Amino acid sequence: MSYNRGVGRETIEAKRKRAIEVLDRLETEMPQVRIQLDYHTPLQLLVAVILSAQCTDKRVNLVTPALFQRFPDARAYAAVKPEEVEPYIQTCGLYRAKAKNLVAAAKALVAEHGGEVPRSREALEKLPGVGRKTAGVVCIHLGGDAAFPVDTHVKRLAGRLGFTTQSHPDKVERELQALVPQERWMKGHQLLVWHGRRTCFARSPACQRCVVADLCPKRGVRAPRARPTDAPRARP
Ligand code: SF4
Repeated sequence: MSYNRGVGRETIEAKRKRAIEVLDRLETEMPQVRIQLDYHTPLQLLVAVILSAQCTDKRVNLVTPALFQRFPDARAYAAVKPEEVEPYIQTCGLYRAKAKNLVAAAKALVAEHGGEVPRSREALEKLPGVGRKTAGVVCIHLGGDAAFPVDTHVKRLAGRLGFTTQSHPDKVERELQALVPQERWMKGHQLLVWHGRRTCFARSPACQRCVVADLCPKRGVRAPRARPTDAPRARP
């Protein structure tokens, strides 16, 4: 049983206002929030985001310095077999599939984009190993197509906050885009990801210390059990 507070029959305008207030408060709480993956070039960003699937950003940042040194551009990845990439990323999980995708994506970049990373979400989604979320994350950080990428945190929070009843990430993204002005999509994505990491945990959200608790219907959240301390907060 959940202990959600209803937001009643909320008009779309009221929901938009609430979404903006949520983002305002999260931005006040986490003004420095940014992507945690280390990169210096568009290709490094694309590679790091591909590696981050089912892996922590921290772990990705541990393996990428050696990987980026060995493979400085798309042609370097495209020239080798996936087995030559595997040793550099084997602590990242799903490393065989990721190595295969990195080499295949690099070949496509060389063949179709002159070795450069496209800024179009549609073009990025055609690369092996690049789904809609990955393409969206790359786009917003490279100044490409606007997007409100929906990862596991964004999807969970959008549901709990009553911003969507959808479960498919594409539909969740469309609903968020309808609530939030486009110029705030990138920061909105980052803030929801970080709020999910620091406070609105998947299993036991720390609603008692959440800065948007009074704005949140807590959809699907179970009443908290007594516990001595909250989990420590990660720093954005
Ligand atoms: S921590 Fe609780 S109150 Fe805060 S956004 Fe998550 S479900 Fe809502």
